[in-house]
Amino acid sequence: MAINLTKTDVVIVGLGAAGGVAALPLAQAGLRVIGLEAGTWLSPEDFAPDELRNNFRGWPQAVQKANREIPTHRPNAGAQYSPRLAIHPMMNAVGGTTLHYWAQSWRLNPWDFKVVSETTRRYGRSRIPAGSTVEDWPLGLDELEPYYDRVEYELGTSGKAGNLNGKIDPRGNIFEGPRRREYPMAPLRGTGFTEMMGDAARKLGWHPFPGPAAINSRTYENRAACAFHGYCARGGCHISAKGSTAVTTIPKAQKTGRFDVVTQATTTTIEADANGRASGVNYVKNGVEYFQPADVVLLATYVYENVRLLLLSKSKPYPNGLSNNHRQVGRHYFSHNTGAAVTALFPRDLNNWYGLPAQGVAVDDWADDNFDHAGLDFVGGGNLWVYSDRRPIAAANMPTFGRAPEWGAAWKAFVKQNADRWNTAYLQKTTLPYEDNYLDLDPTVTDPLGFPVCRITADFKDNERKVAAFIQDKMVEWFMAAGAVATEKAPIGTMGPTTHAYGGTRMGDNPETNVVNRWGFSHEAPNLGILGASVMGTSGAHNPTLTAQALAWRTADYLVKNWKTIAT
Ligand SMILES: Cc1cc2nc3c(=O)[nH]c(=O)nc-3n(C[C@H](O)[C@H](O)[C@H](O)COP(=O)(O)OP(=O)(O)OC[C@H]3O[C@@H](n4cnc5c(N)ncnc54)[C@H](O)[C@@H]3O)c2cc1C
Ligand code: SF4
Repeated sequence: MAINLTKTDVVIVGLGAAGGVAALPLAQAGLRVIGLEAGTWLSPEDFAPDELRNNFRGWPQAVQKANREIPTHRPNAGAQYSPRLAIHPMMNAVGGTTLHYWAQSWRLNPWDFKVVSETTRRYGRSRIPAGSTVEDWPLGLDELEPYYDRVEYELGTSGKAGNLNGKIDPRGNIFEGPRRREYPMAPLRGTGFTEMMGDAARKLGWHPFPGPAAINSRTYENRAACAFHGYCARGGCHISAKGSTAVTTIPKAQKTGRFDVVTQATTTTIEADANGRASGVNYVKNGVEYFQPADVVLLATYVYENVRLLLLSKSKPYPNGLSNNHRQVGRHYFSHNTGAAVTALFPRDLNNWYGLPAQGVAVDDWADDNFDHAGLDFVGGGNLWVYSDRRPIAAANMPTFGRAPEWGAAWKAFVKQNADRWNTAYLQKTTLPYEDNYLDLDPTVTDPLGFPVCRITADFKDNERKVAAFIQDKMVEWFMAAGAVATEKAPIGTMGPTTHAYGGTRMGDNPETNVVNRWGFSHEAPNLGILGASVMGTSGAHNPTLTAQALAWRTADYLVKNWKTIAT
C-alpha cells in the first residue's frame, strides 16, 4: 500500500531540460511545486574529463535508470529487432541531460512551424511525402519567441543575432526568424579550424555564423566563463559554465521557498479520478511506494518515458493508458536524422585537441526551405555544423580513407600521423512523422521493476534519405573548399533510440490527431501537462532542447495565468 502524502499544487515528474525550466515560473508565481526526480544531485566533483567514464561507460556514478530501460527497436512491424543499445546516454540526475549535453541552444526557424502550409503554397500539396502525418504547429515562431528569449537569458546563452527585429546582420544566422534582442553573451570564441571553415564557406557564397550555446562566453550570473578545456561532449561542467538547469533555473526556483526537490523518486504511474482528471502520481523511493496527490501534474521525463508512463497509467476513464482514448499516445514519433555524417582528412594538423562541440561554425543555407526546392524531389534540408573537439579514444577511432589498413603497424602509423588531421561534420536534417513510425510498450522486454520498456517501430523514409544525400554532398563541397584531401560519407542508419527523439504526445488543436492542445495540456485530462520534445510535431534542422524549454516555460506560464480553470 502506497504512503499517501500531502497534496501539492503542482507535481513535476522529471527535473531535466524541460521540467527543470518549468519549475521556475511556477514557483515564482507562488504555487507550491514538488519535483520528483529519479536521479540524485551530482556535484562539480562528479564531472571529471574522463572519456572512458563519460563516453563509454555511461556515467556509472549516476543513477543509470535510462540504461535499464533502453527502448527496443525494429524498423517496421514485420522486421526483426535491431541489436539493443548497451547504454543510452540520457542522464538521470537533477538537471537531467542538460548536465552533460553539448549545449547547442538553437531556436527553430519560421518554416519549421508551418511545413504543410508553406510547402503547399510554394510547391503544391503533392510535395508532402506520402504517408507523412505532419501538421502545421498550432502556433508560429512569433508566439514562441518571447519564451525563447526568456530561457536564453535565464540559462545564459552565447551567440550572435542574425535577425534583430527584422534587421538582418550577416554576422549571425540570416535565415533565423526575428528576435527581440541580442543574445545575452557574445558567441564562444572561434578556433583556427572554425575560422578556416568559415572562410571556405564564404568563398562558396554561403553564410557561415557561430552557433548558439548555453555556455558562458563570459562570467554570467556568478557562473564562470568556459575554459574551453574539452571533454564537454557527454561531460558535465566542473566550473558550471554550462547552463544546465541544475545550476540555473532549479536552484533559483528552490530559493523561492516554494519548490521542493525529491531525489531518487522513480514515478511508476499517474492516477486519474473518476472524472478523468489526473489526481497525482505513484513513485518508488528506496523501495517504498508513495502517492503524491496534486492539483496539476506536469510530465517531463523525456520522450520515451513520457509515452511509457502514459501507456502504463491505465484506469477506468483511460483503459488504453492516460490521455489515450483517441489512441494518439506514441503516434507521430520520429527521431532526428543525424546520421549520414561526412568525415574529412586534411593535409595538416587542425589543433582541435582543445575545444568543445558547441564551439563551431554553422551554415543554414541548405536548411529547411532556405533554398529553392522547385527542381528537387524532397522537402526540408540540413544544418551544416563543424566544431572543435577531440578526445584520445575517439581520435584513434578515425577512418583510414582507404589509405591504410584498419589494423597493425601501418594502421598505427597512419593514426599517429593523422589523429589531429580529420574532422567529422554533424548534420541535422529535417525529419517528418509518418503513419507507421510509432512508440508502444514492448510485449516481452521489461525494466528491473517489471514494467515493459518502450518499443520503437520506425525507420527513415524516402524524403529523409534524399535530404541526407543532398546534405552530404554540400558538406563534401565545404570540406573540399577548405582544403580537405579526402572525404568519407557515413550511412544514414535507422531510427533506433536517440538523444533527439520527438513526438509521441504531439501538440495540436485537433484531439483526433494530437495528445496535447496548443498550450501543452492534454485534450482528455485537462490538468495534465506534458513537457519536452514529445509535444513537437517537426524537428527542423537544429537540436531540440531550447525549443522544448521555451515550450515548457510557455506551458507553465499558461498554467499560472489560468490556474483556476485548469486546477479545479
Ligand atoms: C550527449 C548528449 C548531447 C546532447 N547535446 C545536445 C545539444 O547540444 N543541444 C540540444 O538541444 N540537445 C542536445 N541533446 C539532447 C538533450 O539533452 C535533450 O533534448 C533534452 O535533455 C531533453 O529534455 P527532457 O527534459 O525531455 O529530458 P532530460 O533532460 O533527459 O530530463 C528528463 C529527466 O526525467 C527524469 N526521469 C526519467 N524518468 C523518470 C521517472 N520515471 N520518474 C522520475 N524522474 C524520471 C530523468 O532522470 C531526467 O532527469 C543531447 C543529448 C545527449 C545525451
Ligand atoms: S569546455 Fe567549457 S562548458 Fe565544457 S566542461 Fe569545459 S569549461 Fe565547462
